[in-house]
Amino acid sequence: MTWRHALILDPAASDDPRTEFGATFTAVDPAAPALSIGELSTQRGDGIFESIGVIDGHPQEVAAHLERLAHSAQLCDLPVPHIVQWRQAVTAVAAECPPGECVIKLILSRGIEHGPSPTAWVTAASAADNSAARRDGVRVVVLDRGFDSGAPARAPWLLLGAKTLSYATNMAALREARRRGADDAVFAASDGVLLEGPTSSLVLRRGDRFVTPAPGAGILHGTTQLSLFAHLESRGFETAYETLPVSALVEADAAWLVSSVRLAAGITEVDGAPLPYDPAFTAELNAYLLTPRD
Ligand code: PLP
Repeated sequence: MTWRHALILDPAASDDPRTEFGATFTAVDPAAPALSIGELSTQRGDGIFESIGVIDGHPQEVAAHLERLAHSAQLCDLPVPHIVQWRQAVTAVAAECPPGECVIKLILSRGIEHGPSPTAWVTAASAADNSAARRDGVRVVVLDRGFDSGAPARAPWLLLGAKTLSYATNMAALREARRRGADDAVFAASDGVLLEGPTSSLVLRRGDRFVTPAPGAGILHGTTQLSLFAHLESRGFETAYETLPVSALVEADAAWLVSSVRLAAGITEVDGAPLPYDPAFTAELNAYLLTPRD
């Protein structure tokens, strides 16, 4: 990964939407150390983030990502992010991105232990080459998430709908998938309800109807899934949020894992059994996802 740019944001910024926030950004060398060792983001994973895809300098779906950042902040009792300041920081780092695909990360941490304020920063880096997953799809295994579908309502302190920095278990699930000879995973609640991938949303096709697990089940509401559903609706397809059992995945006419940077990866195999895979339709979905989207 080649780092392109990094900005630290001063959290004490004005709320006035007309403010020009450039003076509240400090550019730092993205290859040099920049955070205090007292940072709660690194000590406890106590913070939130967003990953935004950038195509030829255009950051995709910025409003949806900023909305989710604010939602995650609320769930984590972090101060409400200054949306205009973050938007201007995204524009500033996107301007440094070369043609091709990059990824912008927004990070809001609780800050330094006993410190006065959160720490906020934005980075841009070149994106990994995801063409193989977009073209050839991914083999998945279904992994037990370890809680039932009632857990998010019963235990909101699990922060299940927030995009927190605590991704160690998501990464462990990906390693387990690879140990089992697959490329990726789909989480299911312990009562057999389909959830999401460790870094993606799940979309199933049933005839001309596209369905995805309802966000209330303790999953992230994916910006890519939202955008894809709007696109599918404009093409005359029906879309819906549903509570889906694991059997719905193996019986689907097609299925995808969708996310901001990898985009749509068709699922070719579930726990070693083949799933119908439509490379031409998947290519169309990715062509849409690669167009500039606001
Ligand atoms: N679910 C999880 C757990 C994720 O980490 C992600 C993306 O990183 C998604 C879903 C998909 O979200 P988006 O489409 O906004 O990238």
